[in-house]
This record gives sequence, structure tokens and C-alpha cells, in this order.
Amino acid sequence: MERYVASTRCPVCKAGLICWVFTAEHLPLVLMCDECHSVWKTPEGIGSTDPLSFTGEVQPFDGIDTSGVRWATSKEITKAGLMATVIGHE
Ligand SMILES: [Zn+2]
Repeated sequence: MERYVASTRCPVCKAGLICWVFTAEHLPLVLMCDECHSVWKTPEGIGSTDPLSFTGEVQPFDGIDTSGVRWATSKEITKAGLMATVIGHE
């Protein structure tokens, strides 16, 4: 499945691509690293170097039913108004 990349600089593993992820209906899309599976709520949060806010952001699907988790489609990203955050796809 095609992935829509919002960042190529994962601050946790330094290797993964951070892509938009669909978790469940009626929940906002989130961002996940395809290597270490760290999760952020916003693209702005990815670059944070503040250890407190950083650890606060990385909660792998805390409280979210992960059964429907998959890479978000372009349609979902467009609908969420987030296409401007996409820097590439593969
Ligand atoms: Zn990573």
C-alpha cells in the first residue's frame, strides 16, 4: 500500500520514514515511523528536542484500537486538510 511521507528524519531511530496513518473512523490521522513505530500527532511535534514534550508525543497508539491501523490514503489525507504536509510518497 502506498505511504504518504511527512518527514524523512525520525528523531528516534534516525532511519525511518514518518508517514500518515489511519487509526479509526472519527479519529484524526496520526504520524508513524515505518521503522521504529514511534507515533506523533502533528508534523510540528516530530522535530521537538524538548525531552518532556517529546516523550509525551511518543505513545504508540495509546488508548486507540489498533485493529484498523493502516497507512492513510491520499483521499483521507486530502479530506483531513493535511496534503500540504506530505513531502513525498512511495
Ligand atoms: Zn523511527
